[in-house]
Amino acid sequence: VDVFPTLAILRVGNNPDDISYEKSIIKNCHAIGIKVLVYKYPLKITMASFVKALAEINQDNNIHGILIFRPLPKQIDEKVINNMIHVNKDIDCMHPLNLMRVFEGELDGFLPCTPAAVMEILKYFHIEIAGKHAVIIGRSMVVGKPLSMMLLKNNATVTMCHSRTRHIEDIASTGDILVAAIGKAKAIGKAYVKPCATIIDVGINVDEKGNVCGDVDTEDVAPIARRITPVPAGVGAVTTMILLEHVIKAAEMTLEKE
Ligand code: NAP
Repeated sequence: VDVFPTLAILRVGNNPDDISYEKSIIKNCHAIGIKVLVYKYPLKITMASFVKALAEINQDNNIHGILIFRPLPKQIDEKVINNMIHVNKDIDCMHPLNLMRVFEGELDGFLPCTPAAVMEILKYFHIEIAGKHAVIIGRSMVVGKPLSMMLLKNNATVTMCHSRTRHIEDIASTGDILVAAIGKAKAIGKAYVKPCATIIDVGINVDEKGNVCGDVDTEDVAPIARRITPVPAGVGAVTTMILLEHVIKAAEMTLEKE
């Protein structure tokens, strides 16, 4: 049987960030031979119409992976949508069953793409994780929380920090691995960094000059840190590649079923 790995992107509205992410995904998909179908919906789409559209995409055997841009408008109940995505097409790990597996330490299914990208970078550069202290700043379900479980599974000692953490610099500066995922341009300076730490900058922000930058003030921390991932072309670029890998994996899963 001929199977052509196919990704469906569901975009509600015309958010410029979504459109730019979509363009980059399409470019990369075409480069490696993945077909992309973009489904665009108006901002005012009703929950019923969105559910109907997703149900059709779920059932379409020619579509292997589903990516829904978020946040969705208020009238769309994201929890219901997450529960609805076909578990085997859930390349962004939004279905509670797929997420639960991550929290149980089973890392062989669909992993959330950005945390998976962080793990991939650590692995690629042979950065020791077991026994090391990993500090994650940011506790979202997209990045911080699942990443904490993945690092824990790899035997790191993990500390989570967030906007209510007190003495955050004191805690962060004990991390052998420091992950910044807060969404604040250049907020993480040298006071947060342990000498020779590995810093993974997940943030994607725009600085005062309009340039894309991370959460880490790279110039400030560079003299202290051992390594820092760049923004752009760091975690974000790897995240896109992981997403594409998941589409291929989802397509392969349909072959295994036959
Ligand atoms: P989010 O849902 O807004 O979560 C931000 C987290 O950071 C929250 O847990 C918040 O704490 C914490 N936080 C905010 N300000 C803080 C501060 N000053 N000190 C300590 N903690 C603080 O954001 P997200 O979706 O996780 O995204 C975070 C960043 O990563 C954004 O820049 C986003 O664009 C980027 N991102 C990049 C990729 C990629 O592929 N590279 C993917 C996803 C996201 P509370 O929980 O207490 O509010």
